[in-house]
Amino acid sequence: MKVLKFGGTSVGSVNSIQTLLNILKNDDKSTGLPVVVLSAMSGVTNLLISMAEEAAAGNDFTQTLAELEKRHYDVVKKLLHVQNQNPAYTRLKIHFNQLEELLQGVLTLKELTPKTHDLILSYGERCSTLMISKIAAQHFDNALFVDAAELIKTDSSFGHARVNMELTELLIRGFYKENSDKVLFITGFIASNEAEQITTLGRGGSDYTAAIFGSALNASEIQIWTDVNGMMTADPRMVKKAFSLEELTYTEAMELSYFGAKVIYPPTMTPAFLKKIPIVIKNTFDPEFKGTVIRHDCKASLLPIKGISSINNISILNLQGSGMVGKSGFSGRLFSLLAREQINIILITQSSSEHSITFAVQPEDVYHAKTLIEQEFELELLAQKLDPLVVEQDQAILAIVGENMKQTPGMSGKLFHALGRNGVNVRAIAQGSSEYNISVIISSADLAKALNAVHDAFFVQLTKTLHAFCLGTGNIGRTLFDQLNAHRDFLQENNGIQVKIAGISNTRKMVFNADGLSLNSWKDELEQSVTTANLEDFISRMKEMNLPNCVFIDNTASPKPIEFYETIFKSNISVVTCNKIGNSASYSQYKTFRDTARKHGVDFFYETNVGAGLPIIRTLKDLMSSGDRVQRIEAILSGTISFIFNHFKADVNFHDVVKMAQEKGYTEPDPRDDLRGTDFMRKMLILARDAGYEMEATDVQIERILPKACLVAQTVDDFYAALLAEDAYFANLKDKAEREKKVLRYIGKLEDGKASITLQMVDENHPFYMLSGSDNIISFTTDRYKERPLVVKGPGAGAEVTAAGVFADLINVGAN
Ligand code: ADP
Ligand code: ASP
Ligand code: MG
Repeated sequence: MKVLKFGGTSVGSVNSIQTLLNILKNDDKSTGLPVVVLSAMSGVTNLLISMAEEAAAGNDFTQTLAELEKRHYDVVKKLLHVQNQNPAYTRLKIHFNQLEELLQGVLTLKELTPKTHDLILSYGERCSTLMISKIAAQHFDNALFVDAAELIKTDSSFGHARVNMELTELLIRGFYKENSDKVLFITGFIASNEAEQITTLGRGGSDYTAAIFGSALNASEIQIWTDVNGMMTADPRMVKKAFSLEELTYTEAMELSYFGAKVIYPPTMTPAFLKKIPIVIKNTFDPEFKGTVIRHDCKASLLPIKGISSINNISILNLQGSGMVGKSGFSGRLFSLLAREQINIILITQSSSEHSITFAVQPEDVYHAKTLIEQEFELELLAQKLDPLVVEQDQAILAIVGENMKQTPGMSGKLFHALGRNGVNVRAIAQGSSEYNISVIISSADLAKALNAVHDAFFVQLTKTLHAFCLGTGNIGRTLFDQLNAHRDFLQENNGIQVKIAGISNTRKMVFNADGLSLNSWKDELEQSVTTANLEDFISRMKEMNLPNCVFIDNTASPKPIEFYETIFKSNISVVTCNKIGNSASYSQYKTFRDTARKHGVDFFYETNVGAGLPIIRTLKDLMSSGDRVQRIEAILSGTISFIFNHFKADVNFHDVVKMAQEKGYTEPDPRDDLRGTDFMRKMLILARDAGYEMEATDVQIERILPKACLVAQTVDDFYAALLAEDAYFANLKDKAEREKKVLRYIGKLEDGKASITLQMVDENHPFYMLSGSDNIISFTTDRYKERPLVVKGPGAGAEVTAAGVFADLINVGAN
């Protein structure tokens, strides 16, 4: 025989009640008729509570009561045959009249005792079960309504009564003996004390009712039918990627639901555990789905943890002072005091120095707890052996749960890495000695981010979501979006990474979407956005959204975003940039960026600062971090100048080559911006700094390519005229090189801490002799690569390769 319990949403509407009946009809009855436990219709218990509270406060409740009645009558009207409706209306009406009288009494007395509170709540389950048993009677000729208050006996702790199992089991068995030929529809949640007064088993207690019946009747299975696909790795409302767990042990299920992760009420586990009855959590709205089985002998799981549970909005109290050190019985005194007054302690941590105790309670218990403690420890507080009690509101607990944690080192490391990288401050930590649970207290504002980040960190088989905020929609920005779009599936399958663009801004507009902007229509969305671009707002918004695994991408060449890098790092957001200005301004700024990023455990990647997508920065970093030392770097890092000298051959003149380069889009609007060597200088400076030299821009010696007349020309046209006028100078250089069978190369060099860029003539033995198009080349001579240098060569400019470099950096952030 099986016990089937249907929760609030499963009895909350006409459709769900029809589904429920279908489930019962299809149930395999070979081992006996099903025993059905029902909750109140969804939301009804909350409504009853609010009516009781309104009445106690002297406010009108009739409107709410009328809504409640209507919800039940609507179901009767839709699901009961006309001839069966009147008896049902009558029975329900009697309940509602009693309820109204009760509430009226509360209103008159302006007093709501726990006893009356429970009695009022009991109408939720009584009405729903009565109504559904009547509907079921149309399908099963042996359906019977059962009031569990007559069978489940408890003490008088109203609100969360403790069950007298022995007596209850006897009563249930006795009753079942007489009625095993009927389909029983039992009210969940409610019970009664010795004086026959109604008690309740705690919020969510219908699950417990099912386990009590299951245990008394030695059921083969207890099924909990709800509105999700079983127990999931986290609350699916908070973590979209949460997935269903196939199996759990009772302890794991208990730990996962302990902090009020609903799905199942923790006390449910005990009777089932004692009798080794499996609990199966199933989805009423997807009955075919296997759901989760909680059982004794689970097969070994490959998952490092089973799930993450959390409780939001709790308060913590911190008591500290020398008076606690070495005092045996101090915590006993503290906690017995709170227990005596029924204050539930959610979590406790004590520092090993015994200097402080931190514990968490529900916000509504704070005031009471504080007063009690201040009274109890009055003398210690007066003598300053204890510091004044500190209360912190708006906190949350996040816990990772799973039996596998016991055998696996590094679990807490992974937890704290994920939290730290996302800037989540941990207020207190507790690890159960069972090692099945590690709990941390964090700020409520960080809970959603923390849950998702920790979920990503532990369930690596799922894709990790990066939230990117992109500045700049020029050539590179646009190309990056195209590449991300084209490689979306590949990224998910091969790298396990999903990139969501959570914000885009250009100089005119900005848009945001925490779920990710569409990579197909971002342009239209940005165009239609009503939000005018404002860099400061863009960055504040990015911080406020507080998304996990967040990356700021600067695809501009503007100095403005640089001002914000430091605060971005301080918000634990990584930065990926192709903007060279940040790294090539003052050395102190360069260093600050690095130090701040490191301090906050985030990444600062700028591969495209030098040689676009070529792996230059990364190579240098790898050499340095593996203990190698750079002796010399030689490089051609200006794609534009390379192009110009590669085409400055035979009978072309310099003027025409520059013009051609400009026409092909290889130069800045004023080609002198390239030919002056400033851009090249910046790259050399960044390389020198990354190679460990504390260098400023003025330390890089630049040999001019252009004669003075070209440099001082007012306009671009004047510049071209000056180039023509100086043709003899360039022709001379070219002829000399050709005579000596050499080529002209503009080469950057770093040696002995000195950086320079010079125009050289190199012969065919030089590694830079053969260079085509706008290629870059760099050779590293190091302690290890001393005989033959390590050379990186390839296209070092263009939107495609630069965007690809930014893309690679982004993926590297994801990998950390
Ligand atoms: P019922 O009314 O059927 O008893 P509950 O509301 O008590 O249902 O519990 C189901 C809800 O629990 C789900 O809708 C889900 O939002 C929430 N929940 C919280 N944590 C989890 C989790 N780890 N797995 C599944 N559901 C969870
Ligand atoms: N109706 C009760 C509640 O909402 C019991 C339950 O649904 O399990 O807490
Ligand atoms: Mg529930």
